[in-house]
Amino acid sequence: MSWSSREIRSRFLRFFEERGHRVLPSASLVPAGDPTLLFTNAGMVPFKRVFTGEEVPEYPRAASSQKCMRVSGKHNDLENVGRTPRHHTFFEMLGNFSFGDYFKREAIDWAWELLTRVYGIHADRLAVTVFRDDDDAARIWERDVGVPGARITRLGEADNFWAMGDTGPCGPCSEIYYDWGRRAGGHAGDCDPSCDCGRWLEVWNLVFMQFNRDASGALTPLPKPSIDTGMGLDRIAAVLQGVYWNYDNDLFRPILERAQALSGVRLGADPERDVSLRVVADHARAVTFLIADGVLPSNEGRGYVLRRILRRAARHGVLLGIERPFLCDVVGTVVDEFGEAYSELVRQRGAIEDRVRREEQRFLETLSRGLALLEDEVRALKTLGQTTLSGDIVFKLYDTFGFPVDLTEDILASKHLGFEHAGFEAAMAAQRERARAAWKGSGETAVGSAYAQLAADFETRFRGYEALELDSRVLALLAGGAPAAQAHAGDAVEVIVEETPFYAESGGQVGDRGTIETPTGLVAVEDTQKPAGALVVHRGKVVRGGLHVDQPARLRVDASRRAGAVRHHSGTHLLHAALREVLGPSATQRGSLVTPGRLRFDFSHDAPLSRQQLEAIEDLVNGWIAENEPALVEQMPHRDAIEAGAIAMFGEKYGDVVRVVSFGDFSKELCGGTHALATGDIGLLKVVGESGIAAGVRRIEALTGAEALGRWRAQERSLERTAELLRAPVGEVETRVEKLLEERRALERELEELRARERRAASGDLASQVEEIGGVRVLAVRVEGVGGADLRAMVDELRERLASGIVLLAAPADGKVTLALGVTPDLVGRFRAGDLIRETAAIVGGKGGGRPDFAQAGGRDPGKIDEAFARLRELVRQGAA
Ligand SMILES: [Zn+2]
Ligand SMILES: [Zn+2]
Repeated sequence: MSWSSREIRSRFLRFFEERGHRVLPSASLVPAGDPTLLFTNAGMVPFKRVFTGEEVPEYPRAASSQKCMRVSGKHNDLENVGRTPRHHTFFEMLGNFSFGDYFKREAIDWAWELLTRVYGIHADRLAVTVFRDDDDAARIWERDVGVPGARITRLGEADNFWAMGDTGPCGPCSEIYYDWGRRAGGHAGDCDPSCDCGRWLEVWNLVFMQFNRDASGALTPLPKPSIDTGMGLDRIAAVLQGVYWNYDNDLFRPILERAQALSGVRLGADPERDVSLRVVADHARAVTFLIADGVLPSNEGRGYVLRRILRRAARHGVLLGIERPFLCDVVGTVVDEFGEAYSELVRQRGAIEDRVRREEQRFLETLSRGLALLEDEVRALKTLGQTTLSGDIVFKLYDTFGFPVDLTEDILASKHLGFEHAGFEAAMAAQRERARAAWKGSGETAVGSAYAQLAADFETRFRGYEALELDSRVLALLAGGAPAAQAHAGDAVEVIVEETPFYAESGGQVGDRGTIETPTGLVAVEDTQKPAGALVVHRGKVVRGGLHVDQPARLRVDASRRAGAVRHHSGTHLLHAALREVLGPSATQRGSLVTPGRLRFDFSHDAPLSRQQLEAIEDLVNGWIAENEPALVEQMPHRDAIEAGAIAMFGEKYGDVVRVVSFGDFSKELCGGTHALATGDIGLLKVVGESGIAAGVRRIEALTGAEALGRWRAQERSLERTAELLRAPVGEVETRVEKLLEERRALERELEELRARERRAASGDLASQVEEIGGVRVLAVRVEGVGGADLRAMVDELRERLASGIVLLAAPADGKVTLALGVTPDLVGRFRAGDLIRETAAIVGGKGGGRPDFAQAGGRDPGKIDEAFARLRELVRQGAA
């Protein structure tokens, strides 16, 4: 009989359960609380802390079938997957463990018993290895188990000594090998398991943890030694099913069947296509299990490994001639085959298929462009007779086209080429530095780093060009700038989702608003921003219920606000084109702002625009609107876009591939914004303001569509109100206002005459208060209700009346006082108005100055006006003496 892998797995666990072991479910591929390890890569990983003594085990013996991933290390290059019988990324490890309980004797006995008596492998098909110095193990094998001495090989530290790390638990191991026979080795003469000819298959590794290694390297025996064993399920299944290649066992066969059915390519027809089929099968398992354990494709860490594997599989799909997402179908077969043992796969089937499909779609979109670039470069290399591609090109493929480095390496290797690793690393380092610098600029260090972290883990796919509403999933939440698992009604929150229809503020266009609804709550989104990388954050407030990470979410953009932004953005492009036509190409963009309600456009120009120029611009734009030219949106290399005459904003950073938005033959711009389907959607564009904002920079403000109409209506209402006030028809408002202004000028003239007459009368009265001090005529008086120019005019009049003398007027008002002082020309040689007012103003708490014949001052203390007058008299007395 032949054993199915399901039977092998369950029999293994039952065998050890019958021998006092606790059977444990597999731990996650993402190691819990172990940041040093990318993935769980062996059965003992979940028990690490037990083996080091940091944790007390709940049971002395355990057994498991553990999910494992190996993607690095010399034996686990992705390169080898599919090319050798047994290199895999994902695999299951069967293991039994003793935590200071049984030791070598039982471990060896039971392993042998299971293989030979339960699984029924002939003892003469097995051989074992032991560590060079491990006489105990050798004796147990030979004397107790009965393995002939010739079938026991002693090997050195490199092969048969295991250590958890540089320090900690370690010990010798013993491996059990299956012998495929001399013919499998393909060489003359006999050999033992130390030979890597292919004859010997390592089936089971038994680790005897019996020492502790300290920092100096010294080994001390552990008081309670432990056992850790591992047997790859794929290998033992291959042995028991009599197949040399793991890919021919029943774990892989159904997956390969599915891959063959989808591609129409049969195994065995072509060696390279066999490799592709096997890569697809291997990677489909890894992708399925990784996503089920919560890993999502991203550009760093575990997410990046997943993305590499997924894209590598997709690329091999292309090599098999499949030009649409297909891996999403293959993962379905993985779920079918492994779902019974791993129920997490069944629970998440839909999500896994969906995620894989989207990542495939995304990859296929860029693949052909990237391949074209790579082929150009390869051709250039060959022409030059070189074999090493520049690291910059590899970086560009990675950065712009999402080519994982090993994918590029794969493709190059198939053409016998390599690439310059140092150059690639330097480009990567430079990008990380740029990213850091960009975040620093936000000025919000803590939040900035939270965004940076999120940007490393997630990127949001923008779907808002084609959709205003879609279903996605909450990937992360920020509350008060810090990551949070959930948020509740009233909380200010930032929501990160997989896909969004919300436009994040950029290129002058403000972010969208709208709502995010999950099964448990509702968020009112007030703004959408792109704080780092491709991360989009929706800022708002939880207005109902609450939400948490990993929930499905329905995103709805406020459609009327978006429509306004669209109109004003497309209007900006037409305005820009018209400005260049009317003012010349030197009228280049210096900045712009696009909101749902208005647009603002700053450009280089050194003079105010005339009425005729502004009207010419409006006429051009509205003419284009009337033509209703459809928008054309294209993706193209930056260089091609510039050559085609697209306008790019100076100093703006664009990627290698840019989005170009054109209307008719009059407007072509590099732009990532949202646009009207045709110019007619703009409706109307009206300039409402033109001003200078800096030397050589002008600003135009304009409205489109409903906003332009709204503005017109508001002005019409204002004009009507004015007409009502004038009690005149709207058509006569102008002449009526002109007439009113004329009348007003006549009245002002009349008023001025009356005031002058009044001043003269007052001066006549004041003149009677003149006193004589040392032969100098002095007039110091208070005047009420007189200010500014009138005060000065009064001083002049009084000087004339006096013919010779000094006049000081003090005008108190609102707790302050104004002083005005005049000196007649004949006295200027003896008394200077400026000096006199400085002294007198000081008395009322003020300062002042002026010419020799006239000076003015302000003071804060009207109560001391008489003291100030007394001071003036004293100064005149002194001056006259
Ligand atoms: Zn050999
Ligand atoms: Zn634009």
